[in-house]
Amino acid sequence: RELVVSFGEMLIDFVPTVAGVSLAEAPAFLKAPGGAPANVAIAVSRLGGGAAFVGKLGDDEFGRMLAAILRDNGVDDGGVVFDAGARTALAFVTLRADGEREFMFYRNPSADMLLTAAELNVELIKRAAVFHYGSISLIAEPCRSAHLRAMEIAKEAGALLSYDPNLREALWPSREEARTKILSIWDQADIVKVSEVELEFLTGINSVEDDVVMKLWRPTMKLLLVTLGDQGCKYYARDFRGAVPSFKVQQVDTTGAGDAFVGALLRKIVQDPSSLQDQKKLEEAIKFANACGAITTTKKGAIPSLPTETEVLQLIAKA
Ligand code: ATP
Repeated sequence: RELVVSFGEMLIDFVPTVAGVSLAEAPAFLKAPGGAPANVAIAVSRLGGGAAFVGKLGDDEFGRMLAAILRDNGVDDGGVVFDAGARTALAFVTLRADGEREFMFYRNPSADMLLTAAELNVELIKRAAVFHYGSISLIAEPCRSAHLRAMEIAKEAGALLSYDPNLREALWPSREEARTKILSIWDQADIVKVSEVELEFLTGINSVEDDVVMKLWRPTMKLLLVTLGDQGCKYYARDFRGAVPSFKVQQVDTTGAGDAFVGALLRKIVQDPSSLQDQKKLEEAIKFANACGAITTTKKGAIPSLPTETEVLQLIAKA
């Protein structure tokens, strides 16, 4: 049982053809399939692992295109449903000259927000060794209830739960609601991954010192990770903690690095769940995940830059 089932949104990012411009200044946009949970599923599959995606797409050309991308990448799309009345979600994303990412979403509501609990592929979710999700699917009903139900089904069936909140402030009615709802399911996850920005958002403290990270630790957790970009990541398990540096690469576009990291880590954990209790094995798994994240920054876009296992092992061997 090595299946990773990823739940949530899959959408199309429209990315300017030139770098360092605002959305208004962009002369044209390229389609870039994305959505963090979908990226994670494809990351796992690209590494040779079993992966499935659960979510809703619009019954339109973009939705069918995204489902085909899942299948072409070896991801089981048996959990994908189509909404006849709503469009596939779109996001316009730009990396401005000041380095900040600017998002503009078309979700009014988009198909992903309309998944219902009754539409869940229960049999597929029950086969998960790891059930992974973010927080965007928690924002609005009916998807919120579907998300909570899917977590319950997976947990009852014995899956490990993996949570990467992937904060997108612009999608929430307020910062306070984002914080409250993101933390409302904090105690249920076995594995949680946050970025530095999310750590500050959730704790209110701009520091990655252990005492700050530990504010997000729960006794119910098996592993808490803080990713630090080119610095690699810090990890906290029940009986040990530490940091694992990343690899030196020529960074081009960091989109999807976090998802690649998560996909790679989950791939390693389903292959050997004892990694969660064994510091040496866990550090090996995190090293593999760092390498996978690092490679993803060397090419434009998320999905096209996700590496195979061979590519990851090559980077590790070279270092
Ligand atoms: P995302 O932008 O996808 O939300 P994130 O903020 O969740 O990403 P990052 O910390 O940017 O995650 O990256 C995840 C992992 O990828 C890092 O922990 C690191 O291992 C690797 N990584 C990211 N950027 C670089 C880089 N420039 N050089 C080397 N490794 C990197």
